Amino acid sequence: MHDTVQMSLGELHTAAKTALSGQGFNGAHAEAIANTVTAAERDECRHHGLFRLPFYINGLLSGQASPDAEPTIRELAPSVIKVDAKYGFSPLALERGDAPLAERAKQHGIAALAVNNALNVAALWPEVERLADRGLVGFAFVAASPYVAPAGGTKPLFGTNPMAFAWPRPNRPPLVFDQASSASARGEIQLRLRDGKLLPEGWAIGPDGEPTTDPAKALAGAQLPFGGFKGSNIAMMVELLAGPLLGDALSFEAGERDKANTGAPCGGELIIAIDPVRCIENGDRIAQLEHAEMLFKKMLEQDGARLPSDRRYEARKRTAAEGVKVPRSLYESIQAYIAGKRIKERNAYEGDHLTHKKEAGHNTHAF
Ligand code: NDP
Repeated sequence: MHDTVQMSLGELHTAAKTALSGQGFNGAHAEAIANTVTAAERDECRHHGLFRLPFYINGLLSGQASPDAEPTIRELAPSVIKVDAKYGFSPLALERGDAPLAERAKQHGIAALAVNNALNVAALWPEVERLADRGLVGFAFVAASPYVAPAGGTKPLFGTNPMAFAWPRPNRPPLVFDQASSASARGEIQLRLRDGKLLPEGWAIGPDGEPTTDPAKALAGAQLPFGGFKGSNIAMMVELLAGPLLGDALSFEAGERDKANTGAPCGGELIIAIDPVRCIENGDRIAQLEHAEMLFKKMLEQDGARLPSDRRYEARKRTAAEGVKVPRSLYESIQAYIAGKRIKERNAYEGDHLTHKKEAGHNTHAF
């Protein structure tokens, strides 16, 4: 028996949407979440693909996520808009905010979107890539669950706090990077625990505050930011931009509010869009973008260097033609969701598609 099931992207989207609807999400939320999950599978970012469905569903069944809240949009200043997700998951709020943000960035040169009260377990590249597809430079910042100690500290405080950046390119897909500010994803530590492997140095400290390469101690202790105090400062910046700046939660507050331990923190996301032509007098979009291409060309002239997002675009071509292979156990979970079976109590990381041990007192969130 094959341990994977081949699915086209269309089949995958339908399955994800039907599973989400089968568990209680309304059509708009099911569609928006299925869009982001399918995009992640399409680009071989599997941690944010079908594998995330249990997080969305656990968030819903725990009562922490709304199945049907319609996000509302409000203008706070001429170029600042707020989307209140009303405790729904972020994909719908982000889709709703995209066009109004782009419109204001084109009008004013720069605009910001404050997403509030959104549960977020997704990658950030979809929202910034959408902006760059419209010719805009995009930034996105999200705080997360508190797993990361500040540089020099020993206790979890920051989230894994990703930030994403997108830059439009002439006649090709945008350049995008999207990265956490922790040295590693939490899921990577959990995978090494499962596989009985040690961690590289610099990823974590144990509950005793000492550096550790033992994944169990790392999960019970704290993850570390990437790049020492420099990554720590970036993590802190993301906390401030996604939290107090928007009147929303810091990671430690979001962690305290996740009473059901779903690993789906609720908070803010800041998105900034800039129209390049409005940044210089008589801006010439093509000339500005061609100027940037000189940098990319020189980067690629160096053996071993690559541009962020090129891996995703290569995967995108491949999966459009071939579809994706879904682990059979995950496929079967999705069929159970479609049939409306409630599998809430099983932690998303204890699914047999990725058998993780749950650490007492810690949810097993991937980030
Ligand atoms: P990775 O370390 O896998 O990749 C980070 C970025 O670096 C990607 O844009 C990747 O591009 C790029 N990259 C990788 N290798 C190279 C290279 N050799 N040269 C140049 N660029 C490179 O990501 P993280 O583990 O840091 O984060 C994974 C995801 O998790 C992100 O999408 C993030 O948004 C998400 N996340 C979400 C959270 C939430 O609360 N919602 C919390 C934390 C993380 P490419 O894609 O082409 O490989």
